[in-house]
Amino acid sequence: MNDLTGKVAVVTGGNSGIGYATAKQFKEAGAQVIITGRDADKVATAAFELGVTGIVADVINLTAIDNLVEQIKADFAKIDILFVNAGIFSPAPVGQASEEMFDNQMGINFKGAVFTIEKFLPLINDSGSIINLSSINAYTGMPNTAIYAASKAALNSYTRTAATELAPRKIRVNAVNPGPVYTPIFAKTGMAEEQLSEFSAAIESRIPLKRFGQPEDIAKLVSFLASDDASFITGSEYNIDGGINVNPII
Ligand code: NAD
Repeated sequence: MNDLTGKVAVVTGGNSGIGYATAKQFKEAGAQVIITGRDADKVATAAFELGVTGIVADVINLTAIDNLVEQIKADFAKIDILFVNAGIFSPAPVGQASEEMFDNQMGINFKGAVFTIEKFLPLINDSGSIINLSSINAYTGMPNTAIYAASKAALNSYTRTAATELAPRKIRVNAVNPGPVYTPIFAKTGMAEEQLSEFSAAIESRIPLKRFGQPEDIAKLVSFLASDDASFITGSEYNIDGGINVNPII
């Protein structure tokens, strides 16, 4: 396990799925961890289970991000690791994208991610690490994901420029692009149980390693990128997808 002793880490959307598993790994690796989310009960329950600090902050609301930064500044002064993980998935076919769906997905997955970074920057120690949770959808034409994919592609683009601009402070900025991972994100789309099982089976059969990822698979990669072991890595993207991106045909 990568050593994160003495580091302070913030995980947005840390009460569920990939964020929760990563907060757990960060803590086990020795970091002090702060998780955020938008549901007070869920954040409090997860923070209690993990033994970390929980703060409610909806990333679609820039004032909420300001308040989050102020609270962390008051309680921790500085941070070393920012895992920009909060995100939603709202599938819809081209031709049926509503303005609300567009604004929500871009507002959380892209604008929320960007302003989380922008507003945390003064608190991030030199040599810190920012990890943006993107998706292999940024590079695919998977049906029903046009807006979601665009929100993640925009985040990957921001990641590259931020990496070069923050290099003088030795702050590293990288993106992680998971393939399908078993988390509550799919149930939140409103798909019926039967539809979800069909969707999962169809995708699983196309993944060369023949399984969905587990949140812990992603957490291990994020923990590595957060650690000093990754001190020469910035501006990079890592697909972690069981091989589906290199073999989408069979
Ligand atoms: P999840 O639904 O389990 O977790 C999402 C987290 O984001 C939750 O903690 C939720 O509270 C938080 N969140 C959502 N909207 C928020 C907002 N406005 N403000 C603050 N927090 C908010 O899903 P997950 O699969 O763990 O998703 C985590 C990230 O991984 C997302 O960015 C998602 O796009 C990305 N991702 C997931 C998969 C997958 O297959 N599960 C694949 C690729 C990328």
